[in-house]
Amino acid sequence: VEKTRVVATVSWELEIPPNGNVSKIARESLATILPADFEIFISKTNIRHRKPQLQKLGEFSLDEVFSRLTTSDERLEFQVGEQIHLVRMNSHRYFVFKQNSRCVSCGLEGTKFMLEQHPNDKSPHFNLYGEEDGRLVLFTKDHIKAKSHGGEDRYSNYQTMCAICNNLKSDLYIPLAGVTELRQIYDENKGVARKKLNGLLHDARRRLMIPIPEDKPVPGYYAQTDLVIMRTEAGLICFSVYDYEDKGEHIASIKKGMPLYPIELRDKKLILPFNSTQFELHQGLAETAFCDTGS
Ligand SMILES: [Zn+2]
Repeated sequence: VEKTRVVATVSWELEIPPNGNVSKIARESLATILPADFEIFISKTNIRHRKPQLQKLGEFSLDEVFSRLTTSDERLEFQVGEQIHLVRMNSHRYFVFKQNSRCVSCGLEGTKFMLEQHPNDKSPHFNLYGEEDGRLVLFTKDHIKAKSHGGEDRYSNYQTMCAICNNLKSDLYIPLAGVTELRQIYDENKGVARKKLNGLLHDARRRLMIPIPEDKPVPGYYAQTDLVIMRTEAGLICFSVYDYEDKGEHIASIKKGMPLYPIELRDKKLILPFNSTQFELHQGLAETAFCDTGS
């Protein structure tokens, strides 16, 4: 009978308490199941916690997404193959992208939406992407005045920016021309060492940033009466319940007190986003139905 040495490897995942001795705990747990004539060698590999992956569920055109925007909080159905996904379509981000789907700094155009989901999220959301040099660039809703400096969540403080320009801007207050200049420095120095590039960008940021301006009081808008949206010959029109006469197709109602997100206000005419389109609030109604707390 000849003796042969055989080496086998077992591997398993072991939970180690803080400050626990990995080798000792592993050796002890093996010793309980192996006969005494087995030699035990322990080697260990740290398991890196991989970042949960963003899951891509489907691709949609800009129209497919913009035509479904709503100010309501309900989840709408989007189909990918056999699968139906429920998606909230009232995010400010979508309305900002609908107003402008190009990066205000470098001009890159957002060309498609990806329906994506983080493993910890209950439902998926759309992300806008543009293509540059064959790779996808994410689009962001940039706060002109960063939230960390008291910038508010409102449309006049939002702008569409690609993630590259947004990262370059960081949370500093840099006028748009300055962000564009940062992007030029970034593009022109792609070949140089990262450390040198970071130095160039750092110096440029110091030069380009300006003191953060004080916020002017911002008009707040909300429905002061119950409102109904009607489709009439003139398009989508909003009536207060007092003015409402049944001539046209009833589209939706807006409850008193609900916040409104005007796209535009001019000549006593308020333009509000609604679903695939915008509706207008005219003349006297704009004064009576909406409260301008800024003046
Ligand atoms: Zn950009």
